[in-house]
Amino acid sequence: MGAPGSGKGTQAQRLEKQFGIPQISTGDILRKHLAEGTPLGLRAKEIMASGGYVDDETMLAIIRARLSQADAAQGFILDGFPRTVAQAEGLTKLLAELGTPLDAVVLFDVNNDQLVKRVSGRRTCEFCKKVFNVNFAPPSGECIPGRAEHSLVQRPDDHEDTFKERLRKYEEDTRKPVSHYYAYTGLMRTVDAEGAIDEVTQRLLGTLKAGGGAAAPVAAKAPKKRVPQRRAKPAARKAARRPVRKAAKKAAPKRRAAAAPKKARKVARKVKRKSAARARPARTRRKSKR
Ligand code: AMP
Repeated sequence: MGAPGSGKGTQAQRLEKQFGIPQISTGDILRKHLAEGTPLGLRAKEIMASGGYVDDETMLAIIRARLSQADAAQGFILDGFPRTVAQAEGLTKLLAELGTPLDAVVLFDVNNDQLVKRVSGRRTCEFCKKVFNVNFAPPSGECIPGRAEHSLVQRPDDHEDTFKERLRKYEEDTRKPVSHYYAYTGLMRTVDAEGAIDEVTQRLLGTLKAGGGAAAPVAAKAPKKRVPQRRAKPAARKAARRPVRKAAKKAAPKRRAAAAPKKARKVARKVKRKSAARARPARTRRKSKR
């Protein structure tokens, strides 16, 4: 998870290389549909161009189909999915079905000024899909402009207006709601994604190692839904408090005895003696001085 330009794609590509498991970028899948002019691509075109989100049902169907491919059997990195709570819920069910729980959920944290700089400079090689940044990570190797079939393009949705809308959508539908969803699972990790790409990779790997990797807890559990609370009837409220009162009473005398000053303890002993004497049968009771 991360705002547009937070570097999810770049880092996911590095993890893909290091661990030999596929990066599954829903954005890339949609762009492929768009390039091939499939019905889904045609439908997604406008939504993507406006910075909106493609509907949850479609996205879940895409992920279901992709995860059933052989290369995902040993693991996978989801990049840009889930983006809504409904997608996260759907993913939880799907992974439970497949028996492949998540190991970690990573949120890439970058401040908004940095995001603007990154996104305005981002360029993708049309041929090999490598991502560069004219401000921070200039094109290299075969992707230097003018060489062979490699040519760099700016994503249409990286233009300023669309970018702002994507950022707004991310804040509203993804960052808080989805991280809140995963906060209950113990899988959530936040990575400071500012600075050099290598530094971020080190932080990311460090955080994944610290989280215990494959030994991390099983599938995400949905957070409990808030049920409107009705006030119990007075009698029920009293009953609910009773055991607590009893326990408090049990503990209290000890605390009081230990804390009471000497004089108070002496008085207490006297009172206790008197009441014990009153409780004794009359025959054994000493005559009162009165
Ligand atoms: P990305 O390359 O991840 O920034 O995605 C580019 C665009 O594809 C987004 O702005 C959305 O319009 C669309 N998209 C990608 N992933 C999702 C998703 N999980 N849910 C909805 N829309 C998505």
